[in-house]
Amino acid sequence: MAAQRTNGRLSRVRRSHRAAAILHDAYGSPHHGNKEDPLDELVFILLSQMTTHHSFNRVFERVKAFATTWDEVLRMRARTFKALIKDAGLSGQKGPRIRAILSRLQADFGSVTLEPLKAMGDGAAEDYLLGLPGVGIKTAKCVLMYSLGRQVLPVDTHVWRLARRLGLVEEGVPYSRVHGTLEMVVAPEDRYTFHVNAIAHGRALCLPLRPRCGLCPLRRLCPSRDLGSARGGGAKGRRRPRARARAPRGRDPHMLPAQLH
Ligand code: SF4
Repeated sequence: MAAQRTNGRLSRVRRSHRAAAILHDAYGSPHHGNKEDPLDELVFILLSQMTTHHSFNRVFERVKAFATTWDEVLRMRARTFKALIKDAGLSGQKGPRIRAILSRLQADFGSVTLEPLKAMGDGAAEDYLLGLPGVGIKTAKCVLMYSLGRQVLPVDTHVWRLARRLGLVEEGVPYSRVHGTLEMVVAPEDRYTFHVNAIAHGRALCLPLRPRCGLCPLRRLCPSRDLGSARGGGAKGRRRPRARARAPRGRDPHMLPAQLH
């Protein structure tokens, strides 16, 4: 039994490695606009949460143009900051939360920065981030991966959907174990590639409701390759109008819940 489990996991590790290589060839590991500085990245993600449009990009640039350092943001009046980020939505929640984080960093490090995390191990840095107000596991892992170069695997809705369709994880994994489960089958050196290209793939072909399996470079190794045809999707390579290809949130069986952010 134990040997079967080990073999199953090894085969999933091999499949994820192969998928990461194929996706890299197809998409070239695109940059999704993430930031080099860990605190920039953290604020950028917090601004983007619960937002269905891309105004947070503009809002982030506005904040950076208004205040050259995060110390300045902490010193500015709360209502000034709230007005600055208004277009990102939920400014009444995001403003106090971000300022509470900046305040905590000032208290912990004597300066409004996440630079000290560079000297911490993966676990300690992740624990520190998870202790900040409003920071969940996916956000913490994004900061670790994108800005601190750690070999962790943030799991967003695209990564999770693809992992399940590829059979890398089993049905019924509780939300609390999503990250640990997937990191068990995606090798450390494949995690960045798998993450950034899964996002690209989830937006282009492995769509929530009508995956375009007929066009998919992963179809030979994907156990869900009939999903597109079964759902009338792109198994025959038909192109659909953009508006119809987008799935309404909540109807995608492979959607990851928002609380993981
Ligand atoms: S074959 Fe279909 S379900 Fe599988 S990864 Fe490709 S698009 Fe997604």
